[in-house]
This record gives sequence, structure tokens and C-alpha cells, in this order.
Amino acid sequence: MDAATRERLLGRLRAVVGDRYAFADPYEVRLYQYDASPETALPDVVVIPGTAAEVAQVVKICADAEVPITARSAASSLAGGTVPVQRGVVITFARMDRILEIDADNLRAVVEPGVVNLSLSQALRPHGYYYVPDPSSQGACTIGGNVGTNAGGPHTLLYGVTVNHVTGLELALASGELVQVGGRKAGSASGYDLTGLFVGSEGTMGIATKIWVKIQPLPPVQKTLMAVYPDVETASNAVSAIVRSGILPAAIEMMDKLSIQAIEAASHAGYPLDAGAVLLLEVDGIPELVEELGERMAKVCRESGASEVRVAKDEAERQALWKGRKGAFSAMGRLSPDFYVMDGVVPRTKLPETLAKIDAISARTGYKICNVFHAGDGNLHPLVLFDAFKPGQYEAVLRIGDEILKLCADAGGSVTGEHGIGLEKRENIRYIFSDDDLEVMDRIRHVFDPHGLMNPGKVFPGEVVEGSAPSRAPDHAPRRAANVAGGDEIWV
Ligand SMILES: Cc1cc2nc3c(=O)[nH]c(=O)nc-3n(C[C@H](O)[C@H](O)[C@H](O)COP(=O)(O)OP(=O)(O)OC[C@H]3O[C@@H](n4cnc5c(N)ncnc54)[C@H](O)[C@@H]3O)c2cc1C
Repeated sequence: MDAATRERLLGRLRAVVGDRYAFADPYEVRLYQYDASPETALPDVVVIPGTAAEVAQVVKICADAEVPITARSAASSLAGGTVPVQRGVVITFARMDRILEIDADNLRAVVEPGVVNLSLSQALRPHGYYYVPDPSSQGACTIGGNVGTNAGGPHTLLYGVTVNHVTGLELALASGELVQVGGRKAGSASGYDLTGLFVGSEGTMGIATKIWVKIQPLPPVQKTLMAVYPDVETASNAVSAIVRSGILPAAIEMMDKLSIQAIEAASHAGYPLDAGAVLLLEVDGIPELVEELGERMAKVCRESGASEVRVAKDEAERQALWKGRKGAFSAMGRLSPDFYVMDGVVPRTKLPETLAKIDAISARTGYKICNVFHAGDGNLHPLVLFDAFKPGQYEAVLRIGDEILKLCADAGGSVTGEHGIGLEKRENIRYIFSDDDLEVMDRIRHVFDPHGLMNPGKVFPGEVVEGSAPSRAPDHAPRRAANVAGGDEIWV
């Protein structure tokens, strides 16, 4: 965009949001060139609207000028979802962070997109409720971003992902219209499930300006167990054994030896340093049920090779164990200056062979790979350790990531469990969808965004990336591991 066009656009945007909340200063917009992925690209203009009506007007101005629009919430995307690869305008929601309503009697809350995930649960707690989806980044990421990626988290095994907890959306479309799909609805909706269509569409079809979510009573009791295993294979087989036994815990998380060492060094939560793998398991509900399920689960764990099963003795110990797990990515800074995290899914029963293959990739390439993941869902997060300042290492880990995603797809899984496709995996999406599949998705997208202006360059393979293409040069590329997750602050 040339300077004169940018100035004209800026003037129009400032007329909507005020001078302070639209800017194009090269130093200021640099802050909006990145997210938690390794990619970067500079926007032309950044806008921080204060209301849904302002968002709609901003979108309309951009669409009329044929300027790309990228929605950005907390920018914790690990898939480059917010990186404006075709430049244009980044719209961010820092000012739209109000909880508009808590309707406990109907188990609903209504929020603006910039509400931080954990803040919603904290606001609900005094009423005896919480918002269930709990990404490990929940201290930073927002409900708007969660809608964009259809975020998951440790407790999605039993309770489902974001799409299962969102009942309605208000959306700003490329036409400049502000429309509502779904709402406070109870029971099943009549007509098309457009809410389900928009959740997980990564800002490519519209921008969520208001979100209706389900809330749930806090479980009366939660019991957290840590089962200690000699290796990941035994632990993986235990995951299947637990599910086969008829118990569906709220969460089953796995950490391998390397991860345990990093997590324990960072959290001092009591993770056993000599373990080959641990499972963190949680059951919740009424006391009698939790007691019984906890005992049955501990028995299955022992029978499937656990050398020890430890039950968190109080809430403080339970919180410490979860703090360790949820701070795992930031803890990787203890092991390596940088890491590259993958997000693939395999059928639960394929965990042992997939992890063995990942181990073989590590042995062949010489790059250490940690595994800390939502084992109950078969949702792997291999973390490839490297040093971005050593020539060739970043390119090598990208190839490793690609190989891992292919493994997951070949095992009958998928190339993303929860982080989305974004920029990172738009070529890998071909591992799971045919050209015809992608064509149908593209046609649906174009119904809402006929000129392809909403978050262009994302999700679909082969889209032209113009303007400031993402940089993979070491001086721009991966930020240091401890910084990516905001240090230990990521978990509150
Ligand atoms: C340490 C760490 C741990 C993580 N753990 C998890 C985890 O357990 N589970 C998980 O699912 N993810 C996890 N993530 C990834 C990330 O936190 C999620 O993808 C999260 O949903 C992104 O939220 P955000 O507010 O940061 O959104 P952003 O990163 O700002 O945006 C994400 C995507 O949504 C789009 N978007 C943003 N706002 C809107 C809107 N208002 N309307 C429409 N589209 C929008 C963006 O364009 C982008 O494509 C983790 C990330 C980190 C750094």
C-alpha cells in the first residue's frame, strides 16, 4: 500500500474509532507483526475498535477499499493465525473485553471477543460456575481467539472443545453487516448450524463481536491423580486401558521424561524426575462418584504398568500439578533456547506407534523432541528443540514438523487438534482433505467473504502471499522459548 493510500485509509478509520485507536506508525505497527508462531509480517494499519458497530464500520471501510483484514485477539496463536501476510489492517480487541451478561439461571454468559478465557471463569466463580474449555494459555488467550481456532485444552476429553460451548455469535461480515447466528438458545437449534460453521474458521469468514457461551456449575469435587510410568509406550497403552475400562476422566495428560525434567525445574510441583512418563488424570463430580472413579482409575493405572499412583492430597497440590502441566511450553526454555511445537492428532490406540516413530525421527535427525500432550484425545504436541541462531536448524525443524504431521495423517488422524491451520499448516491440510473437499470449503468461505479479504493467506493451501511475506530469517524467526508463552505468567 503506498503512503497516500495508507493516509487516506487511516483518516477514514480514525473517523470511526478516534485518532488514538487507529495508527500506522512503523514502530507501533511492528508490535502487531507476530503472534506465538515463528512467523512475522507487518500490517499497514492497526485498529482497536471499542464496539461491535465500530468493528462493522471498520470492516466495511476495508472491504470497500479492497484492503485485507486480519482479526487479532491475544495473538497466542501457535499457527500464525494473526500474522497479516497480505498486510492491510489488523483489528484487535483489547478494548472489547467486557463480560456483558452472566445468566446463571439459563447457564449462559455473553461476552465480547477480548475477554480473557480465565477471566471469564474467575468472574463466574463467585456465582458457583465456570467456563469449561481451558487451553493451557487460558491466562492470556481470549474467548474471541478461542472461537477463531475452536480451542481445546486438557478438559476437552470429557467436556468437548469450544464449539461445544458456544451457542451464538454476533459477526461483522465483509459486507459491513452485523449479523447474529445462534444466540442464547436452549436445546437444539432449528435451521442451519451457522454458529458451528463460524467457530474454528480462523477469522476467514467473519469477525466475532459478541459471543454467547454455555457456563457450567463448578464440580463439587475434583480429584487429580499422577500415574508414574517407565516409558511413554506403557503410559500410552494405559490411556487406552483406562478408556476401555469404561471410565471417561475429565482429563488425561501425558508428559515424557524430557518434559518432566523441564516442568519440574520450572514448577517444583513434585513431578518425579526418574519417571519415563507420567499421566495426569482428573475426575470430577459428586464426592461418591469421584471417590469410586478415582479408585477404579488408580487400579487400572497400576494394572497397566504404573510404578506409583499419587493422588493430589489437597487443592494446593492439585493446583501445583496443573500449574506444572499448563506451564510446560514456557518450561522448555530450561532445555533449549527455542522450540517448535506441532499439533497433530492420532486415534488414541495409535499413540504408542506414533510416539515410537517420533522418537525414531529424533534419533535420525539428532534433534531432541519432548512430548507433552492431551493424551486422552490423542492430541500430540511434540516440541522440537533447537537453536534458531544456528544456521539451518530452523529449516530442519520445519521439515521435522512436516514429517510428524504426515505421520499423524497417515495414522488416521489430523494435522491439527486445536491450534488451527493458520499460516503454518495450509500446505499440510492437503494430507487430510482432497482438492474437492477444499474447493467446497472455499466456496462456503466466499459466500461470506466474496473477495477473500478476511484473513487472506490462511487455512487454504497455495494462496498467494503478497506484500510482506513471512520471514524465516533467524533474526526474525522463533522467539526464545521462555518468551513465547510469557514465562510462567501464562498460567494463573
Ligand atoms: C503456551 C501456550 C499454550 C497453548 N495451549 C493451548 C491449548 O491447550 N489448547 C488450544 O487450543 N490452544 C492452545 N494454545 C494456542 C492459542 O492459545 C489458541 O489458539 C487460542 O485459541 C488463541 O487465542 P487468542 O486470543 O490468542 O487468539 P489469536 O491468536 O489472536 O487469534 C487466533 C485466530 O483466531 C482469529 N480471531 C481472533 N479474534 C477473532 C474474532 N474476534 N473473530 C474471529 N476470528 C478471530 C485470528 O484471526 C486467528 O486466526 C496455546 C498457546 C500457547 C502460547
